[in-house]
This record gives sequence, C-alpha cells and structure tokens, in this order.
Amino acid sequence: MDNALLFDARARVLADLTARNHATPSAVDALEDAVSARKWWAEQWPEGAVYVAGLVAQDVQDALFDTVGRWPICLSCEEGPVHALHIQPDLGGPDPVWVCEETGEPVAALGELG
Ligand SMILES: [Zn+2]
Repeated sequence: MDNALLFDARARVLADLTARNHATPSAVDALEDAVSARKWWAEQWPEGAVYVAGLVAQDVQDALFDTVGRWPICLSCEEGPVHALHIQPDLGGPDPVWVCEETGEPVAALGELG
C-alpha cells in the first residue's frame, strides 16, 4: 500500500470539507477515522487502491449525515429542495467526481469543490 495514496485521499477530502466550511474538529476526526479504516482495507486488497479516495469521501459523508447533516450540498441547482452531491463511481473510483444527486451531472472532481 502506497501511503502517498492515503495522504492524497485525506488532502482531497479535507480540501472539499474546507471549501464548504465543514472542516470542523468532528469532521476532521471522522476523516482521520475513515483514512485509517481504509488504510487497513487497502492493505488487505491492494488492487483497491484506486477506490480509496472516493471511499474515504463516502465514509466522511455518512459520518456527517448522522451528526451535522448533508455534505456537500449541491450549489449548481437553483431550484428544488436542498440536496447533496454523491461520489461517482459508487465504488469510489477510479477518478472520483462529485455529481448532483438530482440531475446526475458532474460538479467537480473530488478535492476540487473550492
Ligand atoms: Zn443539484
């Protein structure tokens, strides 16, 4: 397992948390937990490395949903109820992007919401 992949995953998710003013201590804790869990996971299955960044983002999204609510919110749609972005592909990679859950349109690559 290449630790650079984990650093990259952590940096990209942290950038997207920061971009939406969501980099609270509890969110950063959730990120650290997700990174260490996925480190273990990728060590068991090295071919899974391409999925790590997107999976970390999904783990943090799930953790935040239980505490502070939806992250990240879609800002692309001007109408309709508040809704979130989701990682595509669902498996977490390769090349994870945020897509609007309503329209399915890509919004930004993971790490580039800012
Ligand atoms: Zn949308």
